[in-house]
Amino acid sequence: MIHFVGAGPGAPDLITQRGAALLQRAGCVIYAGSLVNPALLGLAPEGCRIYNSAEMSLPEVLQAMQQAEGDGLETVRLHTGDQSIYGAVREQMDALDSLGIEWDDTPGVSSFCGAAAALGAEYTLPGISQTVIITRLAGRTPVPEREALQKLAAHGASMAIFLSSGMLPGVQQALLAGGAYTADTPAALVYKATWPEEKIVHCRLGELAQAGSRAGISRTALVLAGDFLAGTGYEKSCLYSPSFTTGYRQASQEA
Ligand code: SAH
Repeated sequence: MIHFVGAGPGAPDLITQRGAALLQRAGCVIYAGSLVNPALLGLAPEGCRIYNSAEMSLPEVLQAMQQAEGDGLETVRLHTGDQSIYGAVREQMDALDSLGIEWDDTPGVSSFCGAAAALGAEYTLPGISQTVIITRLAGRTPVPEREALQKLAAHGASMAIFLSSGMLPGVQQALLAGGAYTADTPAALVYKATWPEEKIVHCRLGELAQAGSRAGISRTALVLAGDFLAGTGYEKSCLYSPSFTTGYRQASQEA
């Protein structure tokens, strides 16, 4: 059996209990060495086969999985954050299906959640935005034209941009070109959220590229943008309002 497991954003205690238990009884671990905290490998038992997938192609990963399977070992395929976001897991799952190898999937804490926690931010502030857009600039992987950053930016929603901190001038330009954000819209760069070396840079959208280059951030970072970062001007939730009746609670005050 192959277990896809989300390792979380960095801090080793941010893996789920289920993920940690799977690691503790793995006979083989294939981890995404570019971003998974190697401290997590300490959970694997003595003698566990360890592969760093950063140095492997898809056929090599599949071969290691097939070999472990043939030897009767449980394999953990450890991905950074949550594997459903830019994890390249679907191609592995499909290949395993055609090889007749069983797999299951254990989610993780994505780095966009780790970054929000690092900032003490809420993406979905009432009266500000009720939408989080997770996207990226095109790199070697193209982005469909209808999802161009400039088009998504037209919504003025809360934005979490992956895989793009090496292209900050392009990010800044596209976000501003959307027409909903201004040069004054709050932005942030979160480098290695939840790692000991985590770095946070707050700035205005108009100075994003400059702030990133001043801080020396060009990789392993998320770009966040939107008025949610100001943390002001929002409305309080209905859910916890004293004048609001829910399925669990009667209103204690009049609206
Ligand atoms: N599946 C991962 C994302 C993998 S793509 C997840 O859910 O987080 C790799 C990109 O994720 C990086 O380029 C960076 O933009 C972002 N990233 C991953 N870990 C990060 C962290 N700890 N802090 C900030 N950004 C991170």
